[in-house]
Amino acid sequence: MIISNDAVVSIHYTLSDNDGNILDSSSGKDPLHYLHGHGNLIIGMEEGLEGKANGDRVSLTIAPEKGYGEKSDKLIQKVPKSAFGDQRVDKGMQFNTENGHIVTITDIGKDDVTVDGNHPLAGVHLNFEVEVINIRQATKEEVEHGHVHEPGGHAH
Ligand code: ZN
Repeated sequence: MIISNDAVVSIHYTLSDNDGNILDSSSGKDPLHYLHGHGNLIIGMEEGLEGKANGDRVSLTIAPEKGYGEKSDKLIQKVPKSAFGDQRVDKGMQFNTENGHIVTITDIGKDDVTVDGNHPLAGVHLNFEVEVINIRQATKEEVEHGHVHEPGGHAH
């Protein structure tokens, strides 16, 4: 089968920026398994993989609007240091908010801390080298849940 909606696709990938820095890779790790057509991957990735077959190698160049979006100044905020209570804050520290966003501390002033709610890859042109290593039909349950169930199942 080829990659289309409701296919469970396994890929190996390497992600680099336009300067050739490797930002992420599945090399030496388990492949990434995802359910195609359910918004589990960025749009540019799903569009680029649509119609591909098992064993295909694909190079994808993805602009921010089809990746993690452009950087928005509105997502950069100053919050009082006191908001962090006793927690130690360092420049570059990242943490997850309750709604699943990644927030990065970009500056620490005398009384304020600057936090950037942009995705770390916002505004970045993404270059993916992808190898398709497996494609299978999703189960009914996977389609209903909108995500992949690993062998052995899981509790979602
Ligand atoms: Zn599930």
